[in-house]
This record gives sequence, C-alpha cells and structure tokens, in this order.
Amino acid sequence: MLPLETAREFVLDRCQARKSVRVRVADALGLVTASEIIASQNIPQFPNTAMDGFAVRSADVADAPCELRVVETIAAGHAPQVTVGPGEASRIMTGATIPPGADAVVMVERTAIVSDSAADGEIVRVEVSVPPDNHVRPVGDDLHAGDNVFPAGTELAAGHLGVLCSLGMTEVEVYPRPRVGVLSTGDELVDDGSPLQPGQIRDSNRRTLLALAHRADVETVDLGLARDDPAEIEAALAIGVQTCDAIVTSGGVSMGDFDYVKAVLDRIGDMRWMQVAIKPAKPLAFGTVGDVPVFGLPGNPVSSMVSFELFARPGLRSMMGHPQPIRPTVVAFAAEDLLRRPDGKTHFMRVLATPLGGRTEVRSAGGQGSHMLWAMAKSNALAVIPDGDGVRAGDKLDVLLLD
Ligand code: AMP
Ligand code: MG
Repeated sequence: MLPLETAREFVLDRCQARKSVRVRVADALGLVTASEIIASQNIPQFPNTAMDGFAVRSADVADAPCELRVVETIAAGHAPQVTVGPGEASRIMTGATIPPGADAVVMVERTAIVSDSAADGEIVRVEVSVPPDNHVRPVGDDLHAGDNVFPAGTELAAGHLGVLCSLGMTEVEVYPRPRVGVLSTGDELVDDGSPLQPGQIRDSNRRTLLALAHRADVETVDLGLARDDPAEIEAALAIGVQTCDAIVTSGGVSMGDFDYVKAVLDRIGDMRWMQVAIKPAKPLAFGTVGDVPVFGLPGNPVSSMVSFELFARPGLRSMMGHPQPIRPTVVAFAAEDLLRRPDGKTHFMRVLATPLGGRTEVRSAGGQGSHMLWAMAKSNALAVIPDGDGVRAGDKLDVLLLD
C-alpha cells in the first residue's frame, strides 16, 4: 500500500496549472490570479466624508457651540461648486467630496438648523468642536497607487472582486476554470427515475461528485452513465477527453470481474493503479488520457466522496493554480471514543465537528461503512485516525473540515 502523501504527490505532479487567461471580473469568482495586481490609482481618489453632516473649517468651530452660514449642499457623486470661507459650512452627504476651504466634517446629529430666511440663507448651529480631518476619508486611505494589492496565487473571493472593480478593472489575469466531466459506471445503476428491477440501485455518485466539483469552483460536465461494457465506457471517456480538461469516474476500478473502467483506461491512457493506505477509498486509478487527468474513483458512495476530497479536489485546485491545493487539517478533541483496529491504514472517519468552549470537538456522524452515505452526508469533517486502536474521548486528533 502507498502512503497517502506519496499517492497525492503523484497526482499533483500531473495536475499542473494551465496557461493563464484574461477573464471578465464578473466571471472570476473562485479563480486564482496568475500575476500580481498593482493599484493603478489611489482609493479613495478624492477626499470625502464618512458621515452625513456639515463640512466646516475646524478653526471656526473650536469654540462651539457656534453658528455658520450654509453655502452649499453637496450630494455624493456631485462636485462641490463653492469654497467654504470663514464662518461658513456646506451640507454634505456620505461619500461626497470635501469642498475646498473645509477641513473637517461635523455629523448632522451634532447640528441644528436655526434659521432659514430669504435674507440670510440657512444658518446651522454646530454643537461640538471637531479636530481637523474629523470624519474625512483622505486620498489613498484604503489603497495607494502602486501598492501591491494581491499577489499572484490569490483566490478571488467576493471582496477581492470588489477591490478590482474599485480600481476600474474589468478583466483579470487568472488560471482558467477547468471543465471537469463526471461519469458513473455500473450495470446496476438507474438514473432516469424508472422503477428499479431486482438488483438495481439509483446512481447517487454522479450528483454528489458533480456537486463536490462545483464546490471546488470548477466547471462541471455531466458525462452520464456507462454500463459495465468496455465499448460504452470507452465511448463515454472519449467524449470526456474531447470536451473536458479533467475526468472523474466512479466505479469499475476494483478487483471485480466486470470492472472494465480499469481495462479501458489501461488501453487508452497512461494509468497508475494505486492501493492507498487509507480507509475508506483504498483503490485509486489515476493517470492521463492524452493530457487530460483522469481520476478513477472507487464506486462505494462514501469512498468516492473521500477519494474526491483527498485526491481529485487537490488535483483540480492545483490545475486552477492554487498554491495550497490541499485542505489543511485542524486540531480537534474527541468528544467520545473513536475506535478502530490496526490495519496499516489511516482512517478518515465521518464526524461532526462542533466549536465548544474555544475548541473543536468531534463525534462520530454515524455508521462508518463505505456504503453508508447518510452518515457522510450528515458529517462536516473527516477525522484523521492514524493506524492503531483509535482515539479516546478527550484525546487530540487532526480533522479535515469539509465545506
Ligand atoms: P464498484 O467500484 O464498481 O465495484 O462499486 C462498488 C460499490 O459501489 C457497489 O456496491 C456499487 O453498486 C456502488 N456504486 C458504484 N457506482 C455507484 C453510483 N454511481 N451510485 C451509487 N452506488 C454506486
Ligand atoms: Mg461497478
């Protein structure tokens, strides 16, 4: 059996980042930058107010309360037209430009309009003195032109996209989102809602693996269902290789008489058949057909999910240019015994991780059989249980937090 790390290195070596492309910022959520982003301008570009209120000369209000003549009302998005002179103020709305002459803002809650006559205009009473720059957002407060905003290798999340828009960028240099085809294999599988004949089951892996791939931020392609028939499997894989950047199959890679995925991939691809020292998901077929990485995951529903987590997700994220494609483990505590028997493998138990009193506690999510998808569905983490007898309540352990 191969150690997990060795098997995963083999996979990652063959899942290099693709050539970078320019995409619209609107399409870049979840993608990874291929070059550093340098600020082309200051943000904010002009000094503006953080509050609704009155732009004043701070020296004028040093002895507040005092009264000032209102010379203008400045809305966000409109340039001030009037200089604020001694004894004057401009009414100003959040985000609007500080007018020339003014150096501070008094929030509207600290003011009152005391008269509004045709002769004198509006008079505002300022209740408090404020220092220079009060509630003023200066030029470059957030970003300075020339700042290194995000290094290459940054995964673009919601806030990153907003920053790119603030800088006026409409496109960004990223690694492309791979198209990932997902194929189910097995004579027993039914996916069209028709009544089950004896021995048949519903195809659950395809929906699950498509969803996991979607959550990994790749583009997904449903390659359907192939019977345990070499010609059918080869035809489905051929479509996959033509239309996708990577393929994920489930089933047909074990030692059974009808595990033809193995035979077909051996013929058309450069495959490596691995027995990985983990439970579940010991068998893994991985290789390339042409330059398309193919992940031949085991058919058992839990195994296929765990194998996706441990191999396919890191591989796909590596193709997307993620500098750290492997999920980090976090330290948690067992809230109950998580027992196992020694068998030379690392076990990935399906657990529920809960924050409790400043630490993370885990307990079993239910049945641990590789066919018991219900417990996997209810889990939010995989507990990493090293070879041995397991861990006892109160022991520390590593867990992989899932989405
Ligand atoms: P295999 O790896 O093809 O030997 O399949 C192992 C187990 O997983 C068998 O019990 C299969 O019926 C089951 N299985 C394989 N593919 C799927 C699937 N797409 N959905 C649900 N169960 C599956
Ligand atoms: Mg099968």
